Amino acid sequence: MKKSIIPVLISLLFLGQLASASMSEHIVNYKIKAKLLPDEKAVSGQEVLTWLNNSDRPVEELQFHLYLNAFKNNKTTFITESGGAHRGFKLDKKNWGYINIERFAVAGGPALTGEIEYIQPDDGNEYDQTVMRVELPEPVLPQQTVTLEIDFYSKLPKVFARSGFYEDFFMVAQWFPKIGVFWKGEWNCHQYHNNTEFFADYGVYEVEITVPEEYVIGATGKRIKETSNSDGTKTYTHYQEDIHEFAWTACPDFVEFREPFRMENPHVDTEMILLIHRMHLNHKERYLSALKNGIEFYSQSYGAYPYQTITLVDPAPKATGAGGMEYPTLFTGGTMWWLPKGIYMTEMVTIHEFGHGYWYGMVGSNEFEEAWLDEGINTYSEIKAMAKYYGEDRSMINWGGLKIGDLVYQRAPVMASSRLDPILKNSWEFYSGGSYGMNTYAKAALMLLTLENYLGENVMADIMRTYFERWKFKHPTSEDFVAVAEEVSGQDLSWFFDQFLKSPNKLDYAIGRIRSEEIEDPEGIFDDELRAEGQKAEKGEQEEKGADKDKQEANNQDKEKIYRNEVMVLRKGELIFPQEILIRFDEGEEVMEKWDGRERWKRYVYFRPYKLESAQVDPEYKVLLDINFTNNSRLMKPNKLPVWKHALRLMFQFQNILSLFSF
Ligand SMILES: [Zn+2]
Repeated sequence: MKKSIIPVLISLLFLGQLASASMSEHIVNYKIKAKLLPDEKAVSGQEVLTWLNNSDRPVEELQFHLYLNAFKNNKTTFITESGGAHRGFKLDKKNWGYINIERFAVAGGPALTGEIEYIQPDDGNEYDQTVMRVELPEPVLPQQTVTLEIDFYSKLPKVFARSGFYEDFFMVAQWFPKIGVFWKGEWNCHQYHNNTEFFADYGVYEVEITVPEEYVIGATGKRIKETSNSDGTKTYTHYQEDIHEFAWTACPDFVEFREPFRMENPHVDTEMILLIHRMHLNHKERYLSALKNGIEFYSQSYGAYPYQTITLVDPAPKATGAGGMEYPTLFTGGTMWWLPKGIYMTEMVTIHEFGHGYWYGMVGSNEFEEAWLDEGINTYSEIKAMAKYYGEDRSMINWGGLKIGDLVYQRAPVMASSRLDPILKNSWEFYSGGSYGMNTYAKAALMLLTLENYLGENVMADIMRTYFERWKFKHPTSEDFVAVAEEVSGQDLSWFFDQFLKSPNKLDYAIGRIRSEEIEDPEGIFDDELRAEGQKAEKGEQEEKGADKDKQEANNQDKEKIYRNEVMVLRKGELIFPQEILIRFDEGEEVMEKWDGRERWKRYVYFRPYKLESAQVDPEYKVLLDINFTNNSRLMKPNKLPVWKHALRLMFQFQNILSLFSF
């Protein structure tokens, strides 16, 4: 085969250019040669990894993730925790997945393959081989590097939990031996659990992918080379700096579309690459327009999208288990050819997964330990983006007369939850997958929206931009997020985060009873003195503001009927949040009260020549963490009020369709 030097020169020039604009500290440098073996449903690979010890202590052993071993047998931690099902999909027990290390050596040094040991730092399950450790012949000193040569064979499962094959569709993810993070003086390298996602260091990936020539491929990063081989295969080389993961996909049935995306303010110049399965071609525009919206929204809200490509992969129709997953500069969406236009699942998944490029891709928090920093912040962003482009009250469903916004959709599981876990917790230690999902996605998003309503939209926008700017390409923790929120808002927010991040308890304020009672003319025996003053004040614990003044005004209006109007507000949950209470009277008068919400209840009394019409706590629905809005208001004459209940009932009917998508 003839080789040309020109592509090599071009790629060298290109690499030089990229190297000068490094955004992250390059801890890892992976060079991987991967070959797809379609008949074996496997990938054979050779990996050369250079790892930098950027800590201040010598490192004597290395730890690696071997994620595919989660699918090796029915005794692994992932399979025992999940019961062999993930997001409604079952593992096909005729197609186990695993990763074999065929050779492991320090470059220029001895093979250490025989030294590999599997460890189980989280649960001690000896059947779990998703983490390995290797002791080095000599330690890696601070600021020194070590280069490793690793030959491996990855057998893919039938699509399950994000990766695998379905017929000739391949989603090759979590597929290579991946070094853990040496963080805070020790290895942070968790096992692969049912509820965990990932954590890794930033660096450079250069991956050569060889597939039969009829396959269309997509991969993380930018394609810098493409070669046809004499054996009927093609080799594609992808390169990307400042990322912490690499995934790719291959399928002969993909149709590829490339379209530039450019915007000013902030400046973004990237290429959108859509790999859509030919069965879904009718949804090409839905995908692309949602992706454009996503790039625009996240760039404007948090910071310009900095990479030169973004690849959207539409999995094969029966490979939905690979859908709705994020990788740096590449993500998988999800659709069904029959999905009506007004059900915005495709749009929501596209925006959500693109958004992870920010809250996972660029801000590299530890998803094993603090998943809300990724899923919660991203769901918050998704709700706002969906509202902007598709309408706040209809951003999930606007179909057949039914309108449901993403916010209402996200509130449903929080309202229905058993409150067994706080938001902040190791992902594998949640009571269940449902509790993990509800807390880290929806409840965390509602927490941030509640904070936004409390601090104001502008302050919150500053917090989010500052957090992104300060922590992109680094590993922040929840404390770092709280510190930014406090610094930008200039407020102590520990009361807020201590309650809502760390407690599983509920927030629920309600109107208790309301009543208006006519004050009768005096009857019975009175001391003269008291009679001269007018009506006798009620005894009891009432401390109503301005009640005396109200009474006097009321008394001045001779011979009119006077009512004692009473509103009781209740704190029914353990959690405390300041509340506004709107009280309406018959004659149109409105009073807005502010309550710190601390006591279990609060009484408001008004003497008026007219009666109460209604009372409502949190009338603008600012406190989105309040798990029950239907008890937030009361009318004197009951009306058909529970609009929320109707919307929710209809929404539950759509839950089955919606749950086909994972995100
Ligand atoms: Zn997500």
